[in-house]
This record gives sequence, structure tokens and C-alpha cells, in this order.
Amino acid sequence: MGYKCKLCPSKAVIYMRQHRLALCSGCYVQWFAKQTQRSISEMRMLRRDERVLVAVSGGKDSLSLWYVLSELGYDAEGLYIDLGISDLGYSERSKTYAMHLADKLMRPLHIVSVSKSVGKAIPELVRRSDRSPCSLCGLIKRYIMNRFAIEGGFDVLATGHNLDDEAATLLSNVLHWQVGYLARQSPILMERDGFVRRIKPFYRFTEKETALYALLNGIAYIEDECPYSVDATTIFLKGILNQLEERMPGTKLQFYNNFLAHARELFEREQAPKVQLRQCSICSMPTAECVCAFCRAIERVGGTFVGLNVVRYEPKQCGASSQSTKAAMTAEGDDNGEQCRLA
Ligand code: SF4
Ligand code: ZN
Repeated sequence: MGYKCKLCPSKAVIYMRQHRLALCSGCYVQWFAKQTQRSISEMRMLRRDERVLVAVSGGKDSLSLWYVLSELGYDAEGLYIDLGISDLGYSERSKTYAMHLADKLMRPLHIVSVSKSVGKAIPELVRRSDRSPCSLCGLIKRYIMNRFAIEGGFDVLATGHNLDDEAATLLSNVLHWQVGYLARQSPILMERDGFVRRIKPFYRFTEKETALYALLNGIAYIEDECPYSVDATTIFLKGILNQLEERMPGTKLQFYNNFLAHARELFEREQAPKVQLRQCSICSMPTAECVCAFCRAIERVGGTFVGLNVVRYEPKQCGASSQSTKAAMTAEGDDNGEQCRLA
């Protein structure tokens, strides 16, 4: 690469054009942790005395997030949602990566099985549904993440959305003027009745940056995309943003940061008169309707929600074994048009 680290005499492993910053491996790992803490502090995402549940998919972003939060001293446990996607062993392999990190961090990992919770795995639910795979899967995952976080007594739910994800979602929301989504697109969504606080501490990092952090820390992750993720639109939008970035370094960060600084609040204010939430007549989770979106979707595809089926995986080094628990534990969720990132 030819660059020298800006902070020490070593050779740089990365040059971040948007920051005009070249760093060696040691300095990069420290910089990355500091930037994560900076995002957390500036947005008041998480306090030291709070319990955080990290939604891990087995991919680089979510696993790096769990790792760095643990490094920073936060009380972070993992949640893996087993979607039951058997193509190329996708779900099984992803789960294995999540379990490896649990072992490395010596932290518990909670594994929720979709098929055991609603009677059918994602592929069958998708086959029976007229919704797009990601729309149905996203709804189910948001419900599970929120419900598990609430029932498990967690204060905060963290996801690994990065700058590329957020900028692509923002571009899509702007292109279609999805004002409701724009009002809710934020690195932090505060808790309210029945909904846990949701945070995205990686919103300033690019995909390349999180991948390098994973690599330098020996975090193994699944590199394959979910077989359903062939979302041409998101990939296309990311490609356009990358072209802009190439010509004008810093565009992605400015686009998203300036939205947060100057525009998001305006959309939020416009959307202010909120509908009154009530309890879902089936599962008791908050909803604007009699029956929540999750229960309606599950009913429509012939599933039955019997409560979250949760297995608590204890890290191997502790010598403990897995222990099965069942919790009648749901997120109608705040879809903000975001792309999959529990995956
Ligand atoms: Fe679910 Fe993500 Fe796969 Fe879509 S890409 S089906 S949201 S895991
Ligand atoms: Zn419900």
C-alpha cells in the first residue's frame, strides 16, 4: 500500500480516504474501539450499567460488534436466530460461527429456533407467503429480537448495521420519499412501552472497516450471503454509493451524517401524532391493531406461535453445557426500510 501509520512508525494496513487516515494493524484495532465508544457516547446509546443483547448472524458486522462491545467492557450477550435455512447449510454454519465467538468471549449465546417457535422454518414460511422473503423474515426477526430482549431483561438491543447499510437504506427511503421510514431511520430508537431501545453503534464504519477489524482480531465469520439476499435493489444502490465514494471520498458518511444532523428530526416531527398502541389480542405485544403484524403473518402462512424456543449456549471454556429453556416471550417492530442485518 505504501502508506505509513499516522500514529506510529509501522506500515499501514488501511488507508481511509474519507478520514485521510492511514493506520497499522495495532493502531487500527485501537482506533476502531475508540470510534465505537465515541458513537455510543455521542448518541447516548448505552450506559456501563446496562445489559446489552447483540443480535448476531454469524456475519462480520454483528460478530465484530459483539467482540468490540465486550472489549470495551460492556455486559453483552449474543442472540442468534436460527432461521432454519438449509441451502448450503447456511443457518447451521452461521450458528457455528456465532458459537465460536461465544467461546472466544466466554459469553452466553441465546439461540432462538424459528421452526420450534412458530412450527415452520423460514423457507417453508416463505413458500406459503405472498410477501417477499426478506419482508417476512425481517418481521419475524424483529419480533423475536424485541420479545427476547424484553423477556430476558435486557436494556438495549444492538445490531451490526454499518454505514454502507444505512446510506443505502437512506438513499432508497429518499428515492421513494418514505417519510415514515425516514422519521425512524436513526442509530438509536428509544425504548417505549413494549419496545426495547435499539442501537447501531457501527453506523459510521464501512463494510471494509468492520471486515478488517474481524480479520485482525481473528474473528471467523460466514462470508456467504443468505440465499434469499439477492436483493438487486440494495446491491445496486450500494454500488452507486460506492461509485460516488470513489469519485468523492466521504460522500457516504456526509450523506448519512447530514441527514441525521439536519433532516431526520423534521421527518420525526411531521410523523409525531402517533397511533395509540394496545396489546395484541393473541400475543400481548404492543400493536396499533387488534392483532399484531407478526401474529397476522404467522396465521396467514399456517404457523402457530407457541412461545419463543430458546437454547442458552454456554461457552465451552466454562465447561458448561447447553440448557434448553422455553420462554413465552415478540417486534411488531419499527421497520424503517432497513435491510437485513440480524443477518
Ligand atoms: Fe432473512 Fe436477511 Fe435472508 Fe432476507 S437476507 S431472508 S432478511 S436473513
Ligand atoms: Zn401478536
